[in-house]
Amino acid sequence: MSHVLAAVAWPYANGPRHIGHVSGFGVPSDVFARYMRMAGHDVLMVSGTDEHGTPIQVQADAEGVTPRALADRYNRVIAEDLRALGLSYDLFTRTTTRNHYAVVQELFSGMHRNGYIVPKITVGAISPSTGRTLPDRYIEGTCPICGYDSARGDQCDNCGNQLDPVDLINPKSKINGETPEFIETEHFFLDLPALADALRQWLDSREGWRPNVLRFSKNLLDDLQPRAITRDLDWGVPIPLDGWRDRPDKRIYVWFDAVIGYLSASIEWARRTGDPEAWRKFWNPQGAEGGTPSGGGADGDAQSHYFMGKDNIVFHSVIWPALLGGYSGEGSRDGEPGRLGRLNLPTEVVSSEYLTMEGRKFSSSRKVVIYVRDFLERYDADALRYFIAVAGPESNDTDFTWAEFLRRNNDELVAGWGNLVNRSVSMAAKNFGVIPPIDPAGLTEADEALLAAARAGFETVGGLIGRHRQKQAIGEAMRVVAEANKYLSEQAPWKLKDEADKPRMGTILHVALQVISDANTLLTPFLPHSAQKIHELLGGTGVHAPMPVLEEVDDLDGGPAYPVLTGDYTVGTRWESVPLEAGRPLSAPKPIFRKLDPSIVDEELARLAG
Ligand SMILES: [Zn+2]
Repeated sequence: MSHVLAAVAWPYANGPRHIGHVSGFGVPSDVFARYMRMAGHDVLMVSGTDEHGTPIQVQADAEGVTPRALADRYNRVIAEDLRALGLSYDLFTRTTTRNHYAVVQELFSGMHRNGYIVPKITVGAISPSTGRTLPDRYIEGTCPICGYDSARGDQCDNCGNQLDPVDLINPKSKINGETPEFIETEHFFLDLPALADALRQWLDSREGWRPNVLRFSKNLLDDLQPRAITRDLDWGVPIPLDGWRDRPDKRIYVWFDAVIGYLSASIEWARRTGDPEAWRKFWNPQGAEGGTPSGGGADGDAQSHYFMGKDNIVFHSVIWPALLGGYSGEGSRDGEPGRLGRLNLPTEVVSSEYLTMEGRKFSSSRKVVIYVRDFLERYDADALRYFIAVAGPESNDTDFTWAEFLRRNNDELVAGWGNLVNRSVSMAAKNFGVIPPIDPAGLTEADEALLAAARAGFETVGGLIGRHRQKQAIGEAMRVVAEANKYLSEQAPWKLKDEADKPRMGTILHVALQVISDANTLLTPFLPHSAQKIHELLGGTGVHAPMPVLEEVDDLDGGPAYPVLTGDYTVGTRWESVPLEAGRPLSAPKPIFRKLDPSIVDEELARLAG
């Protein structure tokens, strides 16, 4: 048994999430966490909403509300959507908790003490009316190279050149049209070059990562520059240094605080369980003081797997490891770990590619979008989870189309899996009323072959999920389903109506139901809602696939109350074949999956067209 941290990317709380988002970070992390728990590991799955930064501040100003009020609204919407999808977070929290502030400040202080955070005078744009940093992408002007009049502060979309906002001709704020002021201002920088060698050593020791992630991350090391980690802003975590702590105009930059969420959420989880040190089993190298630095599970029993879309790789494979290494004192300036101890670097950075929609990029502003909430109002969570698992952007960009969603749902989920369950349970209920016994005459070769194929699935499917190859894993599970359907057609138990044939009919149905039970376990990480129903159809009781709950909790340190997602995942089926007992009562089943009418394709396309 290992301690397995499933660290899931933090959705930004400036609006509801669409299905592209949850196909990248959401469903794959849940499949992994559910499987690892079923296989007997001690899993901690954490995340929350990312709530600081300029976009939330700008949007809140536009609506005339506080940034906190805006974040409150979307934190709740997002947590509710993730709950409805059945994502089994041990804790889904937020970055505005006092616990998070304290952990961010501890990491900042520790890195500062070790010399990896250094002050620097820079020229930055501020809004003259608010005094806040105006980030590069919020500045627009004429490109000094090609003359294009809508170049952004960071880049010209016409000639493609990288720009510095101070070089723009006639720069304007995109927020309110005013001319930004360029001032000298003091900020803190993360000294990434001092951590580059340690990062390179660590990346060279990584095994089993997707090659594109590893290549991309190593390339970044060739040109690491110090990176600003504070801003002129009043919405964010205060800087924990004397002379800075009480300044209302300087805050820690949102990206720095957000990645620390993985650690702060783990600590919050531990504090809420009543064992405030429990997070250490997932974060500190085993053997504590004497542990190998940056072990990240290779030498201890703790593993950490980070899930995100590909636009976020740099934060997880370079920036976050740099923070952890700097805090632990592992760069060229050495140093000592702070009170949290040495912290493990990621075992795996699992990045997904992009999902597009009907051939176009998701875009909320251009209405090329379907939000999770709207999707789940019309379709079942497992129908979406199935699509993401079999056709999602695991290692290539993939396209969501309503026609393909309809086909996958009706041909594979309903006609393949649902129908196998339905006709087998119906036939057994009608002819026996219970799970029929195996004929004392024994099993045929065909019976044995099918049972063996299902049992073998535990190793293949489990191994593939453990190596983050979920598409292939669900393919193997569905292959067991296809073999069971083929077996039923060949054995044709419905023809064995004579009393003399009934023992053989019972054997065939017993075998079919056993294989359904096994396939249901194999599919549980992917389709937890229907897995619970199928478990009950087979006469099972109790929790088969535990579900998250949304709870209102008090801030542990006196801040405002907020909702969290959590759950008791110690219950639930194990990753193994459980023999079905003959004689267990069965009742006539209701359909598990909903067959969709082909007209939904045109309806949804019409909605998309507005
Ligand atoms: Zn240009």
